[in-house]
Amino acid sequence: MDEFELIGRYFKTLTPERRDVRLGIGDDAALLKLPDGHELAVTTDTLVAGRHYPEDTAPYDVGWKSLAANLSDLAAMGAEPRWFTLALTLRFADPEWLSGFATGLRDMAVQAGVALVGGDTTQGPPSITITAMGTVPVGEAIRRSGAKPGDVVCVTGTLGDAALALSRLENKELPQFLRRRLERPTPRIKSGAALRGVAHAAIDISDGLAGDLSHILEASGVGAEIQAAALPMSEEFRSLTEPSERLQFQAAGGDDYELCLCIPPDKLRAMRRKLDVPLTEIGRITREPELRILDADGAVVPFEPFGYRHFS
Ligand code: ADP
Ligand code: MG
Repeated sequence: MDEFELIGRYFKTLTPERRDVRLGIGDDAALLKLPDGHELAVTTDTLVAGRHYPEDTAPYDVGWKSLAANLSDLAAMGAEPRWFTLALTLRFADPEWLSGFATGLRDMAVQAGVALVGGDTTQGPPSITITAMGTVPVGEAIRRSGAKPGDVVCVTGTLGDAALALSRLENKELPQFLRRRLERPTPRIKSGAALRGVAHAAIDISDGLAGDLSHILEASGVGAEIQAAALPMSEEFRSLTEPSERLQFQAAGGDDYELCLCIPPDKLRAMRRKLDVPLTEIGRITREPELRILDADGAVVPFEPFGYRHFS
């Protein structure tokens, strides 16, 4: 199977057609129609085998997650996802791996309504690069830079599930729920769109709450006080962790793909009703440019906020 057979067999008709795709896979470039009054939001993520996922990860999950991670970035901007491209580097054209990968990719794409419109296929050390594109009404994208003192800091869903699952992957009794949270994350696309015009700042939590929130704080020139006890957790997470180890998973562990956002306090209740996922208040934005995590007694918990950094 050469490059072109591979594209034809697995990718050319993988995702449903969209009317805003004037020209998809098969030419030198795709032609995409942007709706009037909107701007393009573009994001890229690369997954390197053995680094971002174990080489023996189910190919379905690799396909799902590589697209989900990109869609999560669009969600954090409040963008509506529409299209994506796929640059795939493989050591061999293994039909079993390719069909699992393509199926996971397709299922995520169908759920989000996005179309695969192009890519590149090469032989080499395995890696997957997806570029996702979405649209947002001009000027309405949610940036990292708009948080203001007094804003409530909130997160969608629960934190720590994926990091806990990663640390217990070898455990055969690991609940399916936790495994799924790691392997098939749900990008919060609807929540992101609903937050447009309301949230002052947002980011998706891919590297851990503390590190990702720090990016908002830096971009906005503010700080935050976070209540460790307020961080939302699933029942499965609660039952499998000791209180002393929870903060590490919940604030430093990556791969949750929940949204962290800063919102004026008077908008919180209406927003809670509007979202289809739980929204939990976890702290406040402060004037002093520092991230402080407080325990139940109000004492500062010593904490190293940074997630994984390449080249560090
Ligand atoms: P070119 O050589 O002009 O860059 P290619 O021969 O690499 O084009 O690709 C042929 C067509 O197939 C292009 O439209 C490209 O976007 C698409 N394509 C290549 N690889 C993939 C892939 N993995 N998934 C989806 N589309 C792909
Ligand atoms: Mg090419």
